[in-house]
Amino acid sequence: MTWHVEVSGADCIASGMCAALAPEYFELETEHAEPITSEVDPDEVLLDAADSCPVQAILIRDGDREVGPRP
Ligand code: SF4
Repeated sequence: MTWHVEVSGADCIASGMCAALAPEYFELETEHAEPITSEVDPDEVLLDAADSCPVQAILIRDGDREVGPRP
């Protein structure tokens, strides 16, 4: 199983939370964060980062199913 990770550059406010929580998965660019790679093995840390984003700019999908942020 592989998860797909996206950051909405339009929504991200560059808080840096995701890069601080999961530096192995996210990096903060000048204006917004980016996933280091978009296809990743499932990891709880990714869900924590998606849940912690203040503007819910991180989307994690398992195929067509959204797994993060959690409701
Ligand atoms: S936590 Fe959300 S708002 Fe903050 S840098 Fe990451 S994607 Fe952007």
